[in-house]
Amino acid sequence: MRDEVILMLNGKVILVTGASRGIGRATAFLAAKNHAQVIVNYQKHADQAESLVSEITALGHSAMAIRADVTCEEEVKEMFRQIREQYGRLDILVNNAGIMKNNLLMMTKIQEYQDVMDVNCKGTFLCTQHAAKIMVRQKAGTIINLASVVGVYGNRGQSAYASSKSFVIGFTKCAAKELGAFNITVNAVAPGFIDTDLTADTRSQVKEDILKNIALGRIGTPDDVAKVIVFLGSDLAGYVSGQVIGVDGCEIM
Ligand code: NAP
Repeated sequence: MRDEVILMLNGKVILVTGASRGIGRATAFLAAKNHAQVIVNYQKHADQAESLVSEITALGHSAMAIRADVTCEEEVKEMFRQIREQYGRLDILVNNAGIMKNNLLMMTKIQEYQDVMDVNCKGTFLCTQHAAKIMVRQKAGTIINLASVVGVYGNRGQSAYASSKSFVIGFTKCAAKELGAFNITVNAVAPGFIDTDLTADTRSQVKEDILKNIALGRIGTPDDVAKVIVFLGSDLAGYVSGQVIGVDGCEIM
């Protein structure tokens, strides 16, 4: 494929939260390869965020890393202040930062529940609010939220995590309805089982059971999800909004 054909994000400014590892990292890298100007947000792993920025700039593309805990309003505010100062605009927000804590409902400690809700729900809410303030003024923008198949179907042992992802789906639909008038699209992707640090501790028996129920017969990769996010962030998806796009190899839950 010739290079021009894949420059889906030419010049667009994209913020990917939680881009130091996993799906966020793959998304930031693929966006850069499609000539976006990439902002790599992270919380703890500065080394991994900086190594991604180096990989991107070594290819001749633009990237910067910003540390901010998405659960902290002051840090989120400061991140968006830096984005306005550096770029003067924001075209794409990917609310990817997320954590998972699995436990049976009756065993789940309220702090586990709170931690999951803080990152997955409050983080998504806060970053969307701040991005929308920039995008409304531009009368353009696109927001992509990371949901999950378990947010659609539910799952045993995931009452906190799965319901945080159901929040993301409801929130996506509300934001799409409110922000559509400003030419802003809001969509969610709902990955199935993707091979990242988040799922690294999954017991091999559980993995085998999941695999049996995936029609495409393989576990997903971060790139599988990144490709769909880049498509949703591109002008090719300009008339897609309020949708939840499954990226799960046809998993039967
Ligand atoms: P991962 O490999 O564990 O990476 C998580 C990323 O989120 C890291 O970059 C981490 O930053 C960042 N992060 C965590 N808490 C943060 C905070 N408070 N503020 C800012 N950044 C924070 O996870 P992943 O598997 O790539 O998952 C990415 C998203 O996809 C999540 O929303 C997850 O729920 C969703 N998802 C994943 C799967 C899957 O099977 N993997 C399936 C469905 C949905 P540091 O490195 O700095 O800690």
